[in-house]
Amino acid sequence: MVEIKVQKTASRGIAIASAYIYREVDLTPDQYSVAEDEIEQEEARFQEVKRAVLTELEQLAQENPIFAAHMGIADDYTLQEGIVTRIQSGKKNVQQAILEAVEEVADIFEQMEDEYMRERKADVLDIGKRFLIKCKKISIQDLGAIRQPVIVVAKDLFPSDTVKMDPKYIKGIITEEGGVTSHVSIMAKNYGIPVLTGVSGILDQVEDGLTICMDAKCGTIVVEPEQAVLEAYERLSEEEAIEQENIKKYRALEPVTPQGKRISLCINVGNTEEMKLALDKNVDGVGLFRTEFLYMENSHFPTEEEQFAVYKEAATLCPKEVTIRTLDIGGDKSLPYYEFEPEENPFLGWRAIRISLDMPEMFETQLRAILRASVFGHIRIMFPMLISVEELLEAKQIVAKCKNKLRQEGIPFDEGIEIGMMMETPASVLLAEEFAKEADFFSIGTNDLTQYILAVDRGNKKIASRYDSFHPAVWKAIETIIQAGHKYKCKVGMCGELAGDVAAIPKLLELGLDEFSMSAGTVDYARRAIIGKVI
Ligand code: PEP
Ligand code: MG
Repeated sequence: MVEIKVQKTASRGIAIASAYIYREVDLTPDQYSVAEDEIEQEEARFQEVKRAVLTELEQLAQENPIFAAHMGIADDYTLQEGIVTRIQSGKKNVQQAILEAVEEVADIFEQMEDEYMRERKADVLDIGKRFLIKCKKISIQDLGAIRQPVIVVAKDLFPSDTVKMDPKYIKGIITEEGGVTSHVSIMAKNYGIPVLTGVSGILDQVEDGLTICMDAKCGTIVVEPEQAVLEAYERLSEEEAIEQENIKKYRALEPVTPQGKRISLCINVGNTEEMKLALDKNVDGVGLFRTEFLYMENSHFPTEEEQFAVYKEAATLCPKEVTIRTLDIGGDKSLPYYEFEPEENPFLGWRAIRISLDMPEMFETQLRAILRASVFGHIRIMFPMLISVEELLEAKQIVAKCKNKLRQEGIPFDEGIEIGMMMETPASVLLAEEFAKEADFFSIGTNDLTQYILAVDRGNKKIASRYDSFHPAVWKAIETIIQAGHKYKCKVGMCGELAGDVAAIPKLLELGLDEFSMSAGTVDYARRAIIGKVI
């Protein structure tokens, strides 16, 4: 039995399940040469790999038709020929041949006129990855395909790894890297999955299939527990289930403070599935709809129609407020179909509104989709990562341009749609009054605000203890934002993780915060903290 203590936690929940190790894969082709008399054998190696990939895809296709299309690509003549010719004439080893041929075919797709065909590039690259994984005899790990209860243990997880997870089977997540406000932590919390990040050395202590008990609130992990410890965790898990039942009693109550102020209590979501899971939580709406996941789950930039369908569904599901944040990509969030230039400091780099303003066509596509969906409910638009009033004005002008076009096309939208912004950069704090004159609402993003005010990377485990949203400088910033907002009748909410921290809620209420938006898993506890009494 091994017991591990974790310093910082940002989640709750007890999990008991077998370990599932999620390994990083290095797909760089092995460097070996192929002699004349080995060519045939090398080609046979490829045919074997191809057969294995096709069998695997056939099975996956039974659950998801996307994989049927992938079978066609894996069997595509041009790709086959490219690989075989490289082995036969170029005497390349099979891994190198696959890499080169796949890149060549992917480039051909990228040059095509037809948008649909262009989008197939990502599929070709995915097939190449499957071939290489088979060649290198690495077993493919798809968290979306897990069908038994497990605790995922990984060095780090990226949002693209986790978007497909099914919370029915993923009982917990433990990572060596990543901080408590990494997007993986946030997504896991939205699904109610206990998560512990920054657990150095966990991969040395755990093997696939070993039993793990984890308490995400106290920050304890026990590997291969003794019987008595296992039973203690089972009891804790039962107690937790009872507490979760008890806390539900508060759901019927309005979030009104002891002083009589009605607070708006909302949830943060990354997709409409998360909204459906939270429909019974009696919230005032969605204070943050992170649209980047819609982009990340795709194999192409989502079209206006694709986005419209999602935003319309969101507005219909929740006729109260739905605050749609425009694309906040970059930082730790990348796209499988778009190559970002490597950056020394991605969190200080080409991110969020900077990308939207630099790619106006893509931005307009998103804004049109949001505007069109706005007639189906109460949608608000929110921009991320602003550092200057000029950026806000430019973004608002693009909204106005989209509105004009829609008017000309006779397409309805909510003329009075509110436009607000995330307050998550030091510049936005210092210019809060100027921003308040132009924005309809503020939402304080304490996850980024903390990292930028303190100059502490939110995902770096080495400095995780320095990442502190309770730091007085962060609270000074929060106070400044609330005061500036109220001075100009701009409502102030918070959608960073601090909003759902019951230790922070009394102070935030005292400062006058109007709206609290958080992971659905913490809403019941926040409601109890706002009401301020036990029932
Ligand atoms: C934040 O920065 O606090 C926030 C809510 O946005 P994200 O976590 O998506 O960066
Ligand atoms: Mg942010």
